[in-house]
Amino acid sequence: MSRRRAAERPAPVVLLTCEHGGNTVPAAYRALFAGQARRLASHEGYDIGALAAARALARRWRVPLVAGTVSRLLVDLNRSPAHPRLLSALTRTLVAPERERLLARHYHPYRGLVHGWIAARVGRGERVVHLSVHSFVPRLNGQRRDCDLGLLYDPSRTDEAALCRDWQAALGDWAVRRNFPYRGTSDGQVVSLRRAFPAGAYVGIEIELNQGLLRSPARARQLVADLALTLPV
Ligand SMILES: [Zn+2]
Repeated sequence: MSRRRAAERPAPVVLLTCEHGGNTVPAAYRALFAGQARRLASHEGYDIGALAAARALARRWRVPLVAGTVSRLLVDLNRSPAHPRLLSALTRTLVAPERERLLARHYHPYRGLVHGWIAARVGRGERVVHLSVHSFVPRLNGQRRDCDLGLLYDPSRTDEAALCRDWQAALGDWAVRRNFPYRGTSDGQVVSLRRAFPAGAYVGIEIELNQGLLRSPARARQLVADLALTLPV
């Protein structure tokens, strides 16, 4: 998505999403979460700081944001229906009809909303750039994850690779790594959407923000401002 290519094609429409934005547990499931307040408040429960960053980007770009607010310990909105960790150890014990009810209320509507928004635009011949905002813990298993943000994409989709390369270059002094701390092809909502929409119509990128950085309000504000100014579409 260089300037040359952008000049040949109309500007895409941008959609922001935040699958792990909150740690709410609906009343019907609270009994399963007795004594779990600490886990819910941690990265196990949600992506700390991701929703605030996604909201700030949505305001700056004036684009829609679809955000999940239930805890990933209830159901992980960024996992495929068949993924073994779609439900956590706390909710996997529900009997099958209750699991179905949980998905019908708190999983399928979110996934359907995102899919439907994109399908409508692609159906009109528009190109969609979907940015899915997440955050990661700065240290995992004793290892420091040494970057401010990661841009996750599918290297076989040339528009995604080009956007991430250009964005990394435009972000200058920020420590940006591509396909870190996770691979962009690991199970996630963007991976499902790539299967549904062709590469020419759908660009799906996950933005992974370092929670260590987000703890500083001034640095978080600066990072969001720089992301907002430099999106190369
Ligand atoms: Zn996440």
